[in-house]
Amino acid sequence: MNASTVRFLLFSVIGLCPLISVSAFGQSPARPEPPGWFAGDAHVHRGIGCGRANEKEMLTPQQLLDMMQVNDLAVISVLADAGNGEIKYADQDLAMIDGKDNPASTPEHIIHWDAEWHYDPEGVTFEKKMIGGHLILLGLKQGGQPFAQYTYPIFDWAKKQGGIAGFAHMQYLPFAFYGPPDGIPTSLDCCAPLEYPVETALGSAAFLMEDVHGSDTALEAYYRILNTGFRPGLVASTDYSCNYNEPLGTLLTYVRIPDGHLTYDQWIDGLAKGRTVVSRNAHTEFLDLKVNDASGPGDEIHLSSYQPVRVRIEWRSVHNDQGRIELVQNGSVVASKLAETGPGAPAVFETTLTFRRSGWLAARRMDWQSGHRSHTGAVYVIVNDAPIRASASDARFFVSWIDNLLKQSSPGGEWSNFFSHGRDAAQERYRKAREIFLQREMEARQQGN
Ligand SMILES: [Zn+2]
Ligand SMILES: [Zn+2]
Repeated sequence: MNASTVRFLLFSVIGLCPLISVSAFGQSPARPEPPGWFAGDAHVHRGIGCGRANEKEMLTPQQLLDMMQVNDLAVISVLADAGNGEIKYADQDLAMIDGKDNPASTPEHIIHWDAEWHYDPEGVTFEKKMIGGHLILLGLKQGGQPFAQYTYPIFDWAKKQGGIAGFAHMQYLPFAFYGPPDGIPTSLDCCAPLEYPVETALGSAAFLMEDVHGSDTALEAYYRILNTGFRPGLVASTDYSCNYNEPLGTLLTYVRIPDGHLTYDQWIDGLAKGRTVVSRNAHTEFLDLKVNDASGPGDEIHLSSYQPVRVRIEWRSVHNDQGRIELVQNGSVVASKLAETGPGAPAVFETTLTFRRSGWLAARRMDWQSGHRSHTGAVYVIVNDAPIRASASDARFFVSWIDNLLKQSSPGGEWSNFFSHGRDAAQERYRKAREIFLQREMEARQQGN
Protein backbone atom coordinates (compact mmCIF):
# COMPACT_ATOMS: atom_id res chain seq x y z
CA MET A 1 0.00 0.00 0.00
CA ASN A 2 1.64 3.25 -1.06
CA ALA A 3 1.15 6.73 0.38
CA SER A 4 -1.48 7.84 -2.09
CA THR A 5 -3.53 4.73 -1.40
CA VAL A 6 -3.38 5.50 2.30
CA ARG A 7 -4.47 9.08 1.67
CA PHE A 8 -7.28 7.82 -0.57
CA LEU A 9 -8.52 5.45 2.12
CA LEU A 10 -8.29 8.11 4.78
CA PHE A 11 -10.41 10.50 2.78
CA SER A 12 -12.77 7.70 1.87
CA VAL A 13 -13.39 6.93 5.51
CA ILE A 14 -13.53 10.39 6.99
CA GLY A 15 -14.69 12.26 3.86
CA LEU A 16 -12.72 15.39 4.64
CA CYS A 17 -11.30 16.35 1.28
CA PRO A 18 -13.55 18.99 -0.30
CA LEU A 19 -11.98 18.71 -3.73
CA ILE A 20 -12.18 15.03 -4.45
CA SER A 21 -15.09 14.09 -2.15
CA VAL A 22 -14.66 10.38 -2.68
CA SER A 23 -17.32 8.80 -0.54
CA ALA A 24 -17.72 5.74 1.57
CA PHE A 25 -20.03 4.48 -1.19
CA GLY A 26 -17.25 4.67 -3.72
CA GLN A 27 -18.61 7.47 -5.88
CA SER A 28 -16.10 9.10 -8.17
CA PRO A 29 -14.64 12.60 -7.89
CA ALA A 30 -16.30 13.76 -11.09
CA ARG A 31 -19.81 13.42 -9.75
CA PRO A 32 -21.61 16.43 -8.28
CA GLU A 33 -23.95 14.45 -5.99
CA PRO A 34 -23.14 13.57 -2.38
CA PRO A 35 -22.83 9.97 -1.16
CA GLY A 36 -26.06 8.02 -1.12
CA TRP A 37 -27.46 9.68 -4.26
CA PHE A 38 -27.57 7.75 -7.56
CA ALA A 39 -28.07 9.21 -11.04
CA GLY A 40 -30.25 7.38 -13.53
CA ASP A 41 -32.36 7.66 -16.66
CA ALA A 42 -35.77 6.02 -16.19
CA HIS A 43 -36.95 6.32 -19.80
CA VAL A 44 -34.75 4.79 -22.49
CA HIS A 45 -35.75 2.95 -25.69
CA ARG A 46 -33.34 0.71 -27.55
CA GLY A 47 -35.57 -0.28 -30.47
CA ILE A 48 -36.20 0.88 -34.03
CA GLY A 49 -38.19 4.11 -34.15
CA CYS A 50 -37.90 7.81 -33.25
CA GLY A 51 -34.23 8.83 -33.63
CA ARG A 52 -33.33 5.26 -34.56
CA ALA A 53 -36.00 4.85 -37.25
CA ASN A 54 -33.42 4.04 -39.92
CA GLU A 55 -31.45 1.53 -37.85
CA LYS A 56 -31.68 -2.17 -38.58
CA GLU A 57 -30.73 -3.57 -35.18
CA MET A 58 -31.92 -2.92 -31.66
CA LEU A 59 -29.21 -1.78 -29.24
CA THR A 60 -27.68 -4.61 -27.24
CA PRO A 61 -27.30 -4.58 -23.43
CA GLN A 62 -23.53 -4.17 -23.90
CA GLN A 63 -24.06 -1.14 -26.15
CA LEU A 64 -26.45 0.33 -23.58
CA LEU A 65 -23.86 -0.23 -20.84
CA ASP A 66 -21.32 1.68 -22.93
CA MET A 67 -23.84 4.48 -23.52
CA MET A 68 -24.35 4.79 -19.74
CA GLN A 69 -20.69 5.78 -19.37
CA VAL A 70 -21.14 9.12 -21.16
CA ASN A 71 -23.02 10.49 -18.15
CA ASP A 72 -21.77 7.91 -15.67
CA LEU A 73 -25.26 6.60 -14.88
CA ALA A 74 -25.97 4.19 -12.05
CA VAL A 75 -29.32 3.03 -13.47
CA ILE A 76 -31.22 2.94 -16.74
CA SER A 77 -34.76 1.67 -17.31
CA VAL A 78 -34.96 0.25 -20.82
CA LEU A 79 -38.61 0.53 -21.77
CA ALA A 80 -40.38 -1.97 -23.98
CA ASP A 81 -43.31 -0.60 -25.92
CA ALA A 82 -46.21 -2.34 -24.18
CA GLY A 83 -48.72 -0.20 -26.08
CA ASN A 84 -49.15 0.25 -29.79
CA GLY A 85 -45.75 -1.23 -30.61
CA GLU A 86 -44.55 1.87 -32.43
CA ILE A 87 -40.97 1.22 -31.20
CA LYS A 88 -39.80 -2.03 -32.79
CA TYR A 89 -39.31 -4.82 -31.96
CA ALA A 90 -41.66 -4.67 -29.02
CA ASP A 91 -42.07 -8.43 -28.74
CA GLN A 92 -38.32 -8.86 -28.17
CA ASP A 93 -38.27 -6.16 -25.50
CA LEU A 94 -41.41 -7.41 -23.76
CA ALA A 95 -39.82 -10.84 -23.48
CA MET A 96 -36.85 -9.29 -21.63
CA ILE A 97 -38.97 -7.95 -18.76
CA ASP A 98 -38.35 -10.40 -15.94
CA GLY A 99 -38.07 -8.29 -12.79
CA LYS A 100 -34.30 -8.75 -12.71
CA ASP A 101 -31.33 -6.62 -13.67
CA ASN A 102 -30.01 -7.51 -17.09
CA PRO A 103 -26.95 -9.80 -16.89
CA ALA A 104 -24.84 -7.08 -18.56
CA SER A 105 -25.31 -4.94 -15.41
CA THR A 106 -22.42 -4.34 -13.03
CA PRO A 107 -22.67 -3.51 -9.30
CA GLU A 108 -22.38 0.22 -10.15
CA HIS A 109 -24.36 0.23 -13.42
CA ILE A 110 -27.82 -1.33 -13.48
CA ILE A 111 -29.64 -2.03 -16.76
CA HIS A 112 -33.22 -3.07 -16.18
CA TRP A 113 -36.08 -3.76 -18.60
CA ASP A 114 -39.52 -2.22 -17.94
CA ALA A 115 -42.26 -0.70 -20.10
CA GLU A 116 -43.95 2.37 -21.52
CA TRP A 117 -47.58 2.10 -22.60
CA HIS A 118 -49.42 4.41 -25.01
CA TYR A 119 -51.92 4.51 -27.85
CA ASP A 120 -51.67 8.05 -29.20
CA PRO A 121 -54.89 9.90 -30.03
CA GLU A 122 -53.05 12.05 -32.60
CA GLY A 123 -49.94 11.62 -34.68
CA VAL A 124 -48.77 8.09 -35.42
CA THR A 125 -51.87 6.24 -36.52
CA PHE A 126 -52.91 2.94 -35.06
CA GLU A 127 -56.34 1.43 -34.90
CA LYS A 128 -56.67 1.69 -31.14
CA LYS A 129 -56.28 5.06 -29.43
CA MET A 130 -56.57 6.53 -25.97
CA ILE A 131 -56.23 10.08 -24.63
CA GLY A 132 -54.88 9.60 -21.09
CA GLY A 133 -51.18 10.00 -21.84
CA HIS A 134 -47.97 7.98 -22.04
CA LEU A 135 -47.61 5.73 -19.03
CA ILE A 136 -44.31 4.63 -17.50
CA LEU A 137 -44.47 1.26 -15.73
CA LEU A 138 -41.48 0.35 -13.55
CA GLY A 139 -40.70 -2.68 -11.43
CA LEU A 140 -42.62 -5.12 -13.63
CA LYS A 141 -42.13 -8.85 -13.31
CA GLN A 142 -43.19 -9.64 -16.87
CA GLY A 143 -44.20 -8.00 -20.14
CA GLY A 144 -47.60 -7.97 -21.80
CA GLN A 145 -49.86 -5.91 -24.01
CA PRO A 146 -52.84 -4.84 -21.94
CA PHE A 147 -55.33 -2.41 -23.44
CA ALA A 148 -57.78 0.04 -21.88
CA GLN A 149 -59.38 3.28 -22.99
CA TYR A 150 -58.20 5.04 -19.84
CA THR A 151 -55.19 4.93 -17.57
CA TYR A 152 -56.23 3.12 -14.43
CA PRO A 153 -56.42 -0.50 -15.69
CA ILE A 154 -52.88 -0.17 -17.05
CA PHE A 155 -51.55 1.26 -13.78
CA ASP A 156 -53.39 -1.51 -11.94
CA TRP A 157 -51.77 -4.09 -14.22
CA ALA A 158 -48.35 -2.75 -13.20
CA LYS A 159 -49.27 -2.53 -9.52
CA LYS A 160 -50.49 -6.15 -9.43
CA GLN A 161 -46.95 -7.12 -10.45
CA GLY A 162 -45.52 -5.13 -7.55
CA GLY A 163 -44.56 -2.24 -9.83
CA ILE A 164 -45.10 1.51 -9.77
CA ALA A 165 -46.49 3.79 -12.46
CA GLY A 166 -46.40 7.41 -13.51
CA PHE A 167 -46.96 9.83 -16.37
CA ALA A 168 -44.35 10.77 -18.98
CA HIS A 169 -44.09 13.92 -21.10
CA MET A 170 -45.25 16.47 -18.50
CA GLN A 171 -43.43 19.10 -20.58
CA TYR A 172 -46.09 18.90 -23.30
CA LEU A 173 -48.74 20.42 -21.05
CA PRO A 174 -49.63 23.99 -21.99
CA PHE A 175 -48.16 26.87 -20.05
CA ALA A 176 -50.70 28.79 -17.98
CA PHE A 177 -50.03 32.49 -18.16
CA TYR A 178 -53.63 33.58 -17.62
CA GLY A 179 -56.23 31.85 -15.47
CA PRO A 180 -58.12 28.71 -16.56
CA PRO A 181 -58.87 27.48 -19.18
CA ASP A 182 -55.27 28.59 -19.83
CA GLY A 183 -53.07 25.67 -18.79
CA ILE A 184 -55.81 23.08 -19.32
CA PRO A 185 -55.24 20.94 -22.43
CA THR A 186 -58.20 21.57 -24.73
CA SER A 187 -56.80 19.91 -27.84
CA LEU A 188 -55.10 16.57 -28.31
CA ASP A 189 -51.55 15.77 -29.32
CA CYS A 190 -49.52 12.58 -29.23
CA CYS A 191 -48.58 12.49 -25.61
CA ALA A 192 -49.90 15.05 -23.13
CA PRO A 193 -50.76 13.40 -19.78
CA LEU A 194 -54.46 14.31 -19.71
CA GLU A 195 -55.32 11.95 -16.86
CA TYR A 196 -52.49 12.95 -14.53
CA PRO A 197 -54.70 14.90 -12.10
CA VAL A 198 -57.21 12.02 -12.01
CA GLU A 199 -54.81 9.22 -11.19
CA THR A 200 -52.65 11.34 -8.89
CA ALA A 201 -55.73 12.29 -6.85
CA LEU A 202 -56.90 8.68 -6.75
CA GLY A 203 -53.50 7.51 -5.56
CA SER A 204 -52.42 5.34 -8.47
CA ALA A 205 -49.78 7.64 -10.02
CA ALA A 206 -46.49 7.53 -8.14
CA PHE A 207 -44.51 10.07 -10.15
CA LEU A 208 -44.56 12.76 -12.83
CA MET A 209 -41.82 12.78 -15.45
CA GLU A 210 -40.43 15.45 -17.75
CA ASP A 211 -38.41 14.07 -20.64
CA VAL A 212 -36.95 14.80 -24.11
CA HIS A 213 -35.90 18.41 -23.37
CA GLY A 214 -38.25 19.02 -20.44
CA SER A 215 -39.78 22.45 -19.74
CA ASP A 216 -41.02 24.72 -17.00
CA THR A 217 -44.63 23.75 -17.78
CA ALA A 218 -43.85 20.40 -16.18
CA LEU A 219 -42.97 22.32 -13.02
CA GLU A 220 -46.20 24.31 -13.13
CA ALA A 221 -48.12 21.05 -13.20
CA TYR A 222 -46.00 19.62 -10.38
CA TYR A 223 -46.48 22.71 -8.21
CA ARG A 224 -50.24 22.74 -8.64
CA ILE A 225 -50.65 19.12 -7.66
CA LEU A 226 -48.39 19.63 -4.61
CA ASN A 227 -50.50 22.62 -3.63
CA THR A 228 -53.56 20.38 -3.47
CA GLY A 229 -51.81 18.04 -1.03
CA PHE A 230 -50.61 15.22 -3.28
CA ARG A 231 -46.99 14.06 -3.34
CA PRO A 232 -45.92 12.52 -6.64
CA GLY A 233 -42.21 12.04 -7.20
CA LEU A 234 -40.47 14.45 -9.60
CA VAL A 235 -38.55 12.61 -12.34
CA ALA A 236 -36.56 13.68 -15.42
CA SER A 237 -35.23 11.41 -18.15
CA THR A 238 -34.35 11.41 -21.83
CA ASP A 239 -36.88 9.22 -23.70
CA TYR A 240 -33.88 8.19 -25.82
CA SER A 241 -33.97 7.91 -28.89
CA CYS A 242 -37.05 10.14 -29.12
CA ASN A 243 -34.82 12.98 -27.85
CA TYR A 244 -32.95 13.49 -31.11
CA ASN A 245 -30.45 10.85 -29.97
CA GLU A 246 -28.87 12.99 -27.27
CA PRO A 247 -26.87 10.88 -24.79
CA LEU A 248 -28.51 8.84 -22.05
CA GLY A 249 -28.75 10.97 -18.92
CA THR A 250 -28.88 14.31 -20.76
CA LEU A 251 -31.91 14.70 -18.52
CA LEU A 252 -31.56 12.57 -15.41
CA THR A 253 -32.85 11.91 -11.93
CA TYR A 254 -30.80 11.57 -8.77
CA VAL A 255 -32.38 9.30 -6.19
CA ARG A 256 -31.38 9.18 -2.54
CA ILE A 257 -31.13 5.65 -1.19
CA PRO A 258 -31.16 5.84 2.60
CA ASP A 259 -28.76 2.96 3.27
CA GLY A 260 -26.54 3.92 0.32
CA HIS A 261 -26.86 0.47 -1.20
CA LEU A 262 -27.84 0.65 -4.87
CA THR A 263 -30.49 -1.76 -6.15
CA TYR A 264 -33.11 -1.20 -8.85
CA ASP A 265 -35.96 -1.67 -6.38
CA GLN A 266 -34.47 0.91 -4.03
CA TRP A 267 -33.93 3.31 -6.90
CA ILE A 268 -37.52 3.19 -8.17
CA ASP A 269 -38.81 3.26 -4.60
CA GLY A 270 -36.99 6.59 -4.27
CA LEU A 271 -38.79 7.87 -7.38
CA ALA A 272 -42.14 6.98 -5.83
CA LYS A 273 -41.25 8.49 -2.46
CA GLY A 274 -40.05 11.75 -4.04
CA ARG A 275 -36.46 11.44 -2.80
CA THR A 276 -35.25 12.98 -6.05
CA VAL A 277 -33.33 15.82 -7.63
CA VAL A 278 -33.64 16.27 -11.40
CA SER A 279 -31.16 17.76 -13.84
CA ARG A 280 -31.65 19.03 -17.38
CA ASN A 281 -27.93 19.66 -17.45
CA ALA A 282 -26.83 16.02 -17.58
CA HIS A 283 -24.57 14.66 -14.84
CA THR A 284 -22.85 17.97 -14.19
CA GLU A 285 -24.82 19.64 -11.41
CA PHE A 286 -26.71 18.84 -8.25
CA LEU A 287 -28.81 20.81 -5.78
CA ASP A 288 -28.47 19.78 -2.17
CA LEU A 289 -31.50 21.06 -0.23
CA LYS A 290 -31.57 20.76 3.54
CA VAL A 291 -34.42 22.01 5.70
CA ASN A 292 -33.72 22.37 9.43
CA ASP A 293 -30.33 20.73 8.82
CA ALA A 294 -31.55 17.20 8.25
CA SER A 295 -34.58 16.99 5.95
CA GLY A 296 -34.38 16.69 2.18
CA PRO A 297 -36.59 15.90 -0.82
CA GLY A 298 -39.46 13.54 0.01
CA ASP A 299 -39.13 14.17 3.76
CA GLU A 300 -41.77 15.66 6.00
CA ILE A 301 -41.07 17.96 8.91
CA HIS A 302 -43.52 18.79 11.67
CA LEU A 303 -43.88 22.16 13.36
CA SER A 304 -46.05 22.61 16.41
CA SER A 305 -46.60 26.28 15.75
CA TYR A 306 -45.73 29.23 13.61
CA GLN A 307 -41.95 29.11 13.67
CA PRO A 308 -39.03 29.76 11.34
CA VAL A 309 -37.58 27.04 9.13
CA ARG A 310 -33.89 27.05 8.20
CA VAL A 311 -33.03 26.32 4.59
CA ARG A 312 -29.63 25.54 3.12
CA ILE A 313 -29.15 25.02 -0.62
CA GLU A 314 -25.86 23.94 -2.08
CA TRP A 315 -25.42 24.12 -5.85
CA ARG A 316 -22.66 21.72 -6.78
CA SER A 317 -21.20 21.58 -10.28
CA VAL A 318 -18.38 19.76 -12.03
CA HIS A 319 -17.58 22.85 -14.09
CA ASN A 320 -17.64 26.60 -13.65
CA ASP A 321 -21.08 28.06 -14.11
CA GLN A 322 -23.33 30.86 -12.98
CA GLY A 323 -27.05 31.06 -12.50
CA ARG A 324 -29.79 31.74 -10.01
CA ILE A 325 -30.58 29.54 -7.04
CA GLU A 326 -34.25 29.89 -6.16
CA LEU A 327 -36.27 28.72 -3.20
CA VAL A 328 -39.86 27.79 -4.02
CA GLN A 329 -42.54 27.78 -1.33
CA ASN A 330 -46.00 26.50 -2.32
CA GLY A 331 -45.23 27.23 -5.98
CA SER A 332 -43.86 30.75 -5.56
CA VAL A 333 -40.25 31.89 -5.53
CA VAL A 334 -39.73 33.36 -2.07
CA ALA A 335 -35.95 33.87 -2.04
CA SER A 336 -33.15 33.71 -4.57
CA LYS A 337 -29.49 34.36 -5.10
CA LEU A 338 -27.33 34.90 -8.15
CA ALA A 339 -24.45 32.51 -7.71
CA GLU A 340 -21.27 31.13 -9.19
CA THR A 341 -20.14 27.58 -8.77
CA GLY A 342 -17.29 25.36 -9.85
CA PRO A 343 -15.48 22.13 -9.11
CA GLY A 344 -14.82 21.89 -5.38
CA ALA A 345 -16.44 25.29 -4.82
CA PRO A 346 -20.19 24.83 -4.46
CA ALA A 347 -22.42 27.88 -4.21
CA VAL A 348 -24.23 28.01 -0.88
CA PHE A 349 -27.47 29.86 -0.22
CA GLU A 350 -28.87 29.95 3.30
CA THR A 351 -32.03 31.59 4.52
CA THR A 352 -34.90 31.19 6.93
CA LEU A 353 -38.58 31.49 6.26
CA THR A 354 -41.83 30.89 8.05
CA PHE A 355 -44.82 28.67 7.49
CA ARG A 356 -48.10 29.93 8.89
CA ARG A 357 -49.81 26.83 7.55
CA SER A 358 -48.76 23.47 6.12
CA GLY A 359 -47.01 23.64 2.77
CA TRP A 360 -43.91 22.58 0.89
CA LEU A 361 -40.48 23.78 -0.21
CA ALA A 362 -38.22 23.00 -3.14
CA ALA A 363 -35.05 24.43 -4.64
CA ARG A 364 -34.26 25.05 -8.27
CA ARG A 365 -31.37 26.38 -10.29
CA MET A 366 -32.50 28.62 -13.08
CA ASP A 367 -30.90 29.82 -16.25
CA TRP A 368 -32.29 33.06 -17.66
CA GLN A 369 -32.72 31.58 -21.14
CA SER A 370 -33.68 27.97 -20.64
CA GLY A 371 -35.51 27.85 -17.32
CA HIS A 372 -34.78 25.24 -14.69
CA ARG A 373 -31.52 23.36 -15.07
CA SER A 374 -31.93 21.39 -11.88
CA HIS A 375 -34.74 21.04 -9.37
CA THR A 376 -35.27 19.19 -6.13
CA GLY A 377 -38.26 17.17 -5.09
CA ALA A 378 -40.40 18.81 -2.41
CA VAL A 379 -39.86 18.82 1.35
CA TYR A 380 -43.21 18.82 3.14
CA VAL A 381 -43.74 21.13 6.09
CA ILE A 382 -46.65 20.21 8.34
CA VAL A 383 -47.88 22.82 10.81
CA ASN A 384 -50.09 21.65 13.68
CA ASP A 385 -50.79 18.36 11.91
CA ALA A 386 -52.94 20.10 9.28
CA PRO A 387 -52.92 18.64 5.75
CA ILE A 388 -51.36 20.63 2.91
CA ARG A 389 -54.12 22.61 1.19
CA ALA A 390 -51.96 25.41 -0.12
CA SER A 391 -54.18 26.75 -2.91
CA ALA A 392 -57.94 26.75 -3.38
CA SER A 393 -57.47 28.11 -6.89
CA ASP A 394 -55.21 25.21 -7.89
CA ALA A 395 -57.80 22.74 -6.60
CA ARG A 396 -60.40 24.62 -8.65
CA PHE A 397 -58.07 24.48 -11.67
CA PHE A 398 -58.19 20.68 -11.52
CA VAL A 399 -61.98 20.69 -11.11
CA SER A 400 -62.12 22.69 -14.35
CA TRP A 401 -59.62 20.32 -15.98
CA ILE A 402 -61.80 17.33 -15.11
CA ASP A 403 -64.98 19.14 -16.16
CA ASN A 404 -63.37 19.45 -19.58
CA LEU A 405 -62.45 15.75 -19.59
CA LEU A 406 -66.03 14.83 -18.68
CA LYS A 407 -67.53 17.09 -21.31
CA GLN A 408 -65.22 16.05 -24.16
CA SER A 409 -65.48 12.35 -23.36
CA SER A 410 -69.30 12.37 -23.23
CA PRO A 411 -71.48 11.62 -26.27
CA GLY A 412 -71.30 14.66 -28.54
CA GLY A 413 -67.95 15.72 -27.04
CA GLU A 414 -64.89 16.15 -29.25
CA TRP A 415 -63.08 13.20 -27.66
CA SER A 416 -66.15 10.99 -27.38
CA ASN A 417 -65.02 8.64 -30.17
CA PHE A 418 -62.04 7.52 -28.07
CA PHE A 419 -64.46 5.83 -25.71
CA SER A 420 -66.77 2.91 -26.33
CA HIS A 421 -66.87 0.18 -23.69
CA GLY A 422 -64.52 2.18 -21.44
CA ARG A 423 -66.49 5.40 -21.11
CA ASP A 424 -68.47 4.69 -17.93
CA ALA A 425 -65.51 3.33 -16.03
CA ALA A 426 -63.27 6.21 -17.18
CA GLN A 427 -65.84 8.81 -16.24
CA GLU A 428 -66.35 7.19 -12.87
CA ARG A 429 -62.64 7.80 -12.20
CA TYR A 430 -62.98 11.40 -13.43
CA ARG A 431 -65.95 12.05 -11.15
CA LYS A 432 -64.28 10.53 -8.09
CA ALA A 433 -61.18 12.66 -8.61
CA ARG A 434 -63.32 15.74 -9.21
CA GLU A 435 -65.01 15.20 -5.83
CA ILE A 436 -61.62 15.05 -4.14
CA PHE A 437 -60.45 18.31 -5.72
CA LEU A 438 -63.76 19.97 -4.80
CA GLN A 439 -63.31 18.87 -1.21
CA ARG A 440 -59.73 20.13 -1.16
CA GLU A 441 -60.77 23.46 -2.63
CA MET A 442 -63.14 23.86 0.31
CA GLU A 443 -60.51 22.77 2.82
CA ALA A 444 -57.98 25.21 1.34
CA ARG A 445 -60.51 28.02 1.74
CA GLN A 446 -61.08 26.98 5.34
CA GLN A 447 -57.33 27.24 5.92
CA GLY A 448 -57.37 30.72 4.38
CA ASN A 449 -55.52 29.62 1.22
ZN1 LIG B 1 -43.83 8.42 -24.79
ZN1 LIG C 1 -40.80 6.85 -24.58
